[in-house]
Amino acid sequence: MGTTGMALNGKVAIVTGASSGIGRAIATLFAAEGARVVVAARRRELLDELTREIEAAGGAARAFAGDVSDESFARALVEEAKSRFGGLDIAVNNAGVLGPKGATPDVTRKAWDETMATNLTGAFLGAKYQIPAMLDRGAGSLIFVSSFVGYTAAMPGAATYAASKAGQIGLMKALAVEYGPQGIRVNALLPGGTQTAAADAMATTEDMKAFVRNMHALKRIAAPGEQARAALFLASDAATFITGSAMLVDGGVSINKT
Ligand code: NDP
Repeated sequence: MGTTGMALNGKVAIVTGASSGIGRAIATLFAAEGARVVVAARRRELLDELTREIEAAGGAARAFAGDVSDESFARALVEEAKSRFGGLDIAVNNAGVLGPKGATPDVTRKAWDETMATNLTGAFLGAKYQIPAMLDRGAGSLIFVSSFVGYTAAMPGAATYAASKAGQIGLMKALAVEYGPQGIRVNALLPGGTQTAAADAMATTEDMKAFVRNMHALKRIAAPGEQARAALFLASDAATFITGSAMLVDGGVSINKT
């Protein structure tokens, strides 16, 4: 699939966690498809580099740096979309961290809280301010980037991450029924292993990388662009009857047993 269509022409989108990996790929593809994109994450220089790239390709983007677990940032991010680009149609709450690894009794309260603050509270705060802006437009597509972990599969040593990602799915379902009547679709994208900084941090040796590849029916992990195309589908009018879905884009990691 090319990136020269205009599936999001005239739309305004927020993408969090856009400084790297899946979020960066989503922001790039959405802009190529005609959306004006506000890109958010903490590392401002990476966001500036991304907006320069998008603008050089003829797209429109605005960098807005901050922490998604900070309520004033969540509010200001939506204000930025409204003041810069006139409103908000699409939001991808993608910012996430892996959190503590290891046996659950060894997980500190602090590490738990920090992981939840970004992955789950950040998703809630995003939605809290994005929804009223979408209601102003009379429609919207809200997407959470969750994971197969905590949904179809679990791994020892990743309880905090699994709980945060499963929490996003509950949040997504509640919002889908709460705002379906007003034209807002709410879905979750559940990536399988995807080649990003987070994946490199999870599987540090070649043996571990091979193990992770082998977990997938396709015997490989995804490129970030493959997740971006699924997010584009959910955001676009190709998905007008899809809401409340936890959409696996996981290369068969959920069903593979070999
Ligand atoms: P990366 O580590 O490459 O990207 C994570 C992004 O989140 C970065 O842009 C980071 O930016 C941002 N971020 C993290 N914490 C915060 C915060 N508190 N406030 C604002 N931004 C934040 O990871 P991926 O691209 O792999 O992950 C994207 C999403 O996909 C995550 O939610 C992850 O859980 C999910 N996922 C990934 C899988 C994979 O295999 N890669 C599999 C399943 C799900 P900065 O540091 O600049 O703030």
